[in-house]
Amino acid sequence: MDIIHLLPDSVANQIAAGEVIQRPASCLKELVENSLDAGATQIQVVIRDAGKTLLQVIDNGKGMSVTDARMAFERHATSKIRSAADLFALRTMGFRGEALASICAVAQVDMFTRREEDEIGTRLEINGSEVICQEPTQCPVGTNIRVKNLFFNIPARRRFLKTNATELRNIINEFYRIVLVNPQCQFTLVSDDEILMELTIGSSKQRIEQVFGKGSGRNYTAGLVDIHTDTDLISIHGLIGKPEAASKNAQQYFFVNNRFMRHPYFHKAVMNAYQGMLAPDHQPSYFIYFDINPELIDVNIHPTKTEIKFSDEQTIWPILLAAVRESLGKFNLTPSLDFDTNGRIEMPLPPSNPTDVQRPTISFDPTYNPFKHSRESVPNNWASLYDVPYARTETPSMGAVDPVIPQRADEPEDLPSDTSDAPVLHIDEGVHPYQYAGKYIVYPIATGLIFIDQHRAHLRICYEEIQTLMQAKHAASSQQLLFPDTLTLHQDEVPIITEMLPELEQIGFDLQAMDKTSFAINAVPAILETNSPIEAIRKMLTDVQETGRPATHSYSHTISLSMARTNAVPYGKVLCEEEMLDLLRKLFAQKESLYTPDNKRIYVCITTAEIENRF
Ligand code: ADP
Ligand code: MG
Repeated sequence: MDIIHLLPDSVANQIAAGEVIQRPASCLKELVENSLDAGATQIQVVIRDAGKTLLQVIDNGKGMSVTDARMAFERHATSKIRSAADLFALRTMGFRGEALASICAVAQVDMFTRREEDEIGTRLEINGSEVICQEPTQCPVGTNIRVKNLFFNIPARRRFLKTNATELRNIINEFYRIVLVNPQCQFTLVSDDEILMELTIGSSKQRIEQVFGKGSGRNYTAGLVDIHTDTDLISIHGLIGKPEAASKNAQQYFFVNNRFMRHPYFHKAVMNAYQGMLAPDHQPSYFIYFDINPELIDVNIHPTKTEIKFSDEQTIWPILLAAVRESLGKFNLTPSLDFDTNGRIEMPLPPSNPTDVQRPTISFDPTYNPFKHSRESVPNNWASLYDVPYARTETPSMGAVDPVIPQRADEPEDLPSDTSDAPVLHIDEGVHPYQYAGKYIVYPIATGLIFIDQHRAHLRICYEEIQTLMQAKHAASSQQLLFPDTLTLHQDEVPIITEMLPELEQIGFDLQAMDKTSFAINAVPAILETNSPIEAIRKMLTDVQETGRPATHSYSHTISLSMARTNAVPYGKVLCEEEMLDLLRKLFAQKESLYTPDNKRIYVCITTAEIENRF
């Protein structure tokens, strides 16, 4: 008996939907892009329960004929391309003809649509790929599509959706990516009967101001300058942030031919132009729009992927760098742009495949105990290897800490070839630390000199302390504020803070919602080292927005890291000897002392051999 058969369309579409429609935000993106492709100048989006119950998009685009309305929901049905060759001349957002077929396979859809030339419109109702009704109807020109109960017929997918707060944030992020590149269109976003965004037609700059300036009480675009360049290959325009407006919450957007894209390689070009102009951990905002012959890019990677391949990345890189630099120079944003001396740039090679750009990761063995095999890992006669003043073989004095700085797991266990990673550290009264450049603690060790970044060292210590509070059974102790502070948020930050609340309470914050966008701060963690709890919470929010929601569904790492940054001694703070020694003792008592929780190097060691080589 033959056993192979074709899957019914409804099943095939459900499978395809898994690729295209992963969450309400991806569904919204497809619908709004269809409206834009239909030439709409007004698009209204209405959602309920972060799109889980309802996602409605109403446009004034060109609408569909009776037959097209039905065809639109078939798989691979599109009006946008006819042949594979058309893929290289794309000016529309859609082209696969998969979105509506996928959406109607996993939701209850009803649609009203009418073209200008038709007197009467069409209403279509489809439930899980099954057409329930198609009838003529009175309706305005354009398309009004309602997607209800997404994944109603795939409970596993529905369960997989995140909380409303997270899904709403995804929707808002998706919305930003669309509205920022379509200022010629008016948009409204209504969520659970509340208008979240109302954007009028204007210039790109006005659109950016409407999106990011509103509610913040400041002129957002005053912190941006124009960038513009035209070459035969590409035209680049947009706005980039002044270095002094850089923040940890930078908005960074690239668009190519009106499509949002991620491009880590081009991002590096922009960042290179800012070299030496930014405060630590600060990033500039940018909104950069590329226009290029569609033949020179390939948008065909994956329906939900935002990476775009350019055939000429290495040529565009310096054009972009120069354009950003020129703007920074033109607006006198840097006293002198002496490119030949300070600004020597090394252009990195583009990744061979932009989809697998990966940040290098540093691995270490979390079970490693620095104290356990430290003695064995150092040869008995190690001191004789280094004939330097501080090498000692005697037992350290009472109270001295004598750890060996842990090796990373990927390094050999015996005497490491890079001795800079495994110096032996004795701390006792006879050896004095020295604070250098307001930033480093210099300490002589057996093998040479160790330079410890004071802020990063303290950051590691504070982080571990806060992590311990996070994991404790009871909430940490708080300090009641005599006059509660009021924290006012941007509307899209509210869902994030709501999700973070349990973990904030665990470390000792007491926040109370006052209205839709403000919270009273009644109490702060006893260990918080700042007079401005508002600023501390703002930093946490920024950090969470930057890192996104972790897969573990816990903000504990980001909150701990952010608060540790607030608490850690800043650069420039003068430390007395006792404070420096205390810091060193605490640092080398940590399980991991070589890297901060955000993978930054805490100390380096210059060996005596290296110093001697210089003579
Ligand atoms: P694609 O956008 O890749 O062509 P879709 O499944 O998203 O595929 O849409 C199928 C077709 O339905 C589109 O090619 C377009 O002709 C038509 N369509 C979809 N949405 C709209 C809309 N809002 N207004 C007019 N036509 C639309
Ligand atoms: Mg489409």
